[in-house]
Amino acid sequence: MSTELPRYEHYIAGEWVAPAEGGYFASTNPTTAQPWYEAARGTEADVDRAVRAARAAFEAASWRDLSQTARGRLLRRLGDLITENAEDLARTETLDNGKLLREMRSQLAGIPEYFYYYAGYADKIHGEVIPANSTKLLNYTQREPVGVVGAITPWNSPLMLTTAKIAPALAAGNTVVIKPSEHTSASVLKLVPLFEQAGFPPGVVNVVTGFGADAGNALVEHPQVAKLSFTGSTATGSRIAAACGSRFVPVTLELGGKSPNIVFDDADTDSAAMGIVAGIFAAAGQTCIAGSRVFLQRGVYDEVLEKVSARAATIKIGDPLEPETELGPVAFGDQRDKIEEYVRIGREEGGRVLTGGERPDVGLDGYFYSPTVFVDTDNGMRVCQEEIFGPVLTVMPFDTEEEVVALANDTTYGLAAGVWTRDLARAHRLASVLEAGTVWVNTYRAMSPMSPRSGFKQSGVGIEHGTEVLREYTRLKSVWINT
Ligand code: NAD
Repeated sequence: MSTELPRYEHYIAGEWVAPAEGGYFASTNPTTAQPWYEAARGTEADVDRAVRAARAAFEAASWRDLSQTARGRLLRRLGDLITENAEDLARTETLDNGKLLREMRSQLAGIPEYFYYYAGYADKIHGEVIPANSTKLLNYTQREPVGVVGAITPWNSPLMLTTAKIAPALAAGNTVVIKPSEHTSASVLKLVPLFEQAGFPPGVVNVVTGFGADAGNALVEHPQVAKLSFTGSTATGSRIAAACGSRFVPVTLELGGKSPNIVFDDADTDSAAMGIVAGIFAAAGQTCIAGSRVFLQRGVYDEVLEKVSARAATIKIGDPLEPETELGPVAFGDQRDKIEEYVRIGREEGGRVLTGGERPDVGLDGYFYSPTVFVDTDNGMRVCQEEIFGPVLTVMPFDTEEEVVALANDTTYGLAAGVWTRDLARAHRLASVLEAGTVWVNTYRAMSPMSPRSGFKQSGVGIEHGTEVLREYTRLKSVWINT
């Protein structure tokens, strides 16, 4: 019964706050299909309160006058606290979105590194003195925080994607209002006590939960939000870009993908097959960078396809908390329905399912879907053009480098690409002509806080990770002084 479920309120100005008018909504564990907690259903009134709290905290001496070194120390402490609480955070996210516990443990090992990395930048964000062709005038720049940052995140990697926003935003001296996905509020809410223990002043970090149309939209529309950072679907990103554009609010958008994974005849076929399987089936295909379109050069087509489909057919599906499980459920029922619909469309379009394409019987009530490999597909088909965000791979042959570059780039997206070859010159050529924010050669999914990530074309606007992101959370002022 929903009344017995644990219940979370919003976190605003350093306190847990009951929703003004929206009540609570239940969140479902995708492994059992049972609700397991309730979160506050945020509305405009809650968002307004949170943004005002964040603005007040931005102007308060406790944050504004805090030394940069001390700010870095808070972020470092937060990283340490996340490590100390890693197991609980990992389990929470597994219960919330069905990601494998062991995958979450490895994410939790990486997340503190983001806080340490940006902690190191807190005291290195500054302007410069410019000669300006004058001995009479002194011109210098200063790099300032922008104010209140609105951070809106999806359900597939709530902790990691929230970290990618708040670590640089806080390092630069901003305050934040986080709006997690309505499907996965729990792990981010579990960060709240850690923000407090780390010593962030009240109001510097706020969390408002709820649905996109209510809480999300209110955050996008709030006049005191100075910068919006969004990760989610291209459709929502487009709406947010339009809303922010009309008010000239800078916005970072990390959006969807339909990434190509290309194997040439000279590749190490074992590594390539492993990279293809990990590229699409990790997190049950629910990653923005999923290598969902595979192109195999004719000479290795049969061999690699056989390796990939054989592995896909033996992936152990089940409870994501169990150590031997290799594929958990997808995050919620509608998502599985959407995947099923795409598989139906793919078949209707003439694609042939080599393996998968069904709900497996794993003895659990959750939202499981088997790893699916489509052949006989054409890059123009909907299953090859639209983001399915599930464990569904399309495999297509090619003959020449020129041909595969055209096919790989024939998409509205441009998030990532994989290339498998032993030819170094070809690797460099491909890296420069593929229209994608990240290109991996003989590997897939590598990432680091130090390495920038961005989406080309309809995969996004702006940068996350690396040093460039600090520009996204600061504004540059030019000061002239007549000496
Ligand atoms: P989504 O766009 O449905 O929702 C994302 C977030 O936006 C949620 O918090 C949601 O509540 C909120 N939202 C929805 N409508 C809104 C509105 N009108 N105004 C303001 N906020 C609104 O996306 P999703 O289904 O949660 O996530 C999956 C998508 O995220 C996929 O397309 C995936 O590729 C993308 N993604 C991208 C990256 C990246 O780094 N590029 C990373 C992870 C996921």
